[in-house]
Amino acid sequence: MTTSAFADRGLPSPLTADLSATVGRTAARNAPQTPSDRWDPTVVSQAYIADYKPFTALDGEGVRCALYVSGCLFECPGCFNEAAWSFRLGTPYDDALEDRVLADLAKPYVQGLSLLGGEPMLNTPVLLRLVERVRAALPGKDVWCWTGFTFEQLTTAGHPQQQALLEQVDVLVDGPFRQDRKDLTLRFRGSTNQRVLDVPASFAAGEAVAWPRL
Ligand code: SF4
Repeated sequence: MTTSAFADRGLPSPLTADLSATVGRTAARNAPQTPSDRWDPTVVSQAYIADYKPFTALDGEGVRCALYVSGCLFECPGCFNEAAWSFRLGTPYDDALEDRVLADLAKPYVQGLSLLGGEPMLNTPVLLRLVERVRAALPGKDVWCWTGFTFEQLTTAGHPQQQALLEQVDVLVDGPFRQDRKDLTLRFRGSTNQRVLDVPASFAAGEAVAWPRL
């Protein structure tokens, strides 16, 4: 697919070149009604949750509460969880789940919250609300986020809600999964193009900075 073809379908132009290498067959599978709405989290998110794991040691550092949101448009070949491409997988997010996440996170042995998908940055209406509550009530907890977008895409061309969520994240695992760069020995990520970034340090430096404890 050419760059102009993506532009015609409403992808934000600063993202177009990088996404053209990673978006598979056609992104129409989960598409909203109008091309200009595509990739807009306030339009595509259906506020559905595929899974919630209250106490896991797999998704980030320490014991964590991991929330898996539904819906992804990247369609990476070899994706570990194609079912989560659907924005209606699982159950609707609600106040009861949000209260439960806050209560679970408050446990002293829980280090933080992990946001996975699907694509968290296409579910910002739900996650911004959650993370802002976590920051207000539990400032000692950290927030990790896995996304198919890169740090540079989000900071230079991200939706305001994506940028607001990124500002609340401590560690970002970024970039789409690439089957040709798959490496099962990596910590916290599946392919070598993906990075584990220290977000506050990256903002301070004005460029992506690796998380130092990898
Ligand atoms: S970004 Fe993640 S969830 Fe989305 S298609 Fe790629 S690997 Fe799958």
